[in-house]
Amino acid sequence: MKQSDKPLSPGDEAGPDAPGVGEAICQACHGTGTVNGVCCTMCNGTGKVLQGVGGG
Ligand SMILES: [Zn+2]
Repeated sequence: MKQSDKPLSPGDEAGPDAPGVGEAICQACHGTGTVNGVCCTMCNGTGKVLQGVGGG
């Protein structure tokens, strides 16, 4: 059993286990995790989002 219950951030395009998906710097907060001093809602304050990196 794998306990990876990490919820997806709103900015995530797909789950971490999906093919062709990788971490990318959150464009909303530019990797800082905060926007105007407020926790970024796109990445949940992680500064990173999951985006499709495949060209297909
Ligand atoms: Zn962010």
